[in-house]
Amino acid sequence: MSDCLFCKIVAGEIPSSKVYEDEYCYAFRDIAPQAPTHILVVPKAHVSDIAHAGDLPAGTVEAILSAIGKIAAQEKLENGFRVVSNCGPDACQSVPHLHFHILGGRKMGDRMA
Ligand code: AMP
Repeated sequence: MSDCLFCKIVAGEIPSSKVYEDEYCYAFRDIAPQAPTHILVVPKAHVSDIAHAGDLPAGTVEAILSAIGKIAAQEKLENGFRVVSNCGPDACQSVPHLHFHILGGRKMGDRMA
């Protein structure tokens, strides 16, 4: 999508701090980190949110899940980490391109919200 922030990051039109890339997905550091390690993993193909993940090209969801494990190892998050994907207004999703937050490097709260 031509006006999508994360599509522009994937295309290299907007700079990002890349931590991982493969055929299906791209990962970069969040610009406003909520934890010592805060990385966003996005599919290269555009869908608005996780509710539309079924529309992604075959192999993309598997690649993202695999990438999350690789990134966690790369970032030395051996003590654990949290993965969050906000979907829609009630979840305060601010960028309408599916993304997974990887949060780590500190103890998370014991409640989801
Ligand atoms: P969400 O609120 O779940 O949609 O998350 C969107 C995330 O994108 C937020 O954590 C923002 O800090 C992050 N973000 C917005 N613009 C950029 C950018 N240019 N580079 C990296 N992260 C960004």
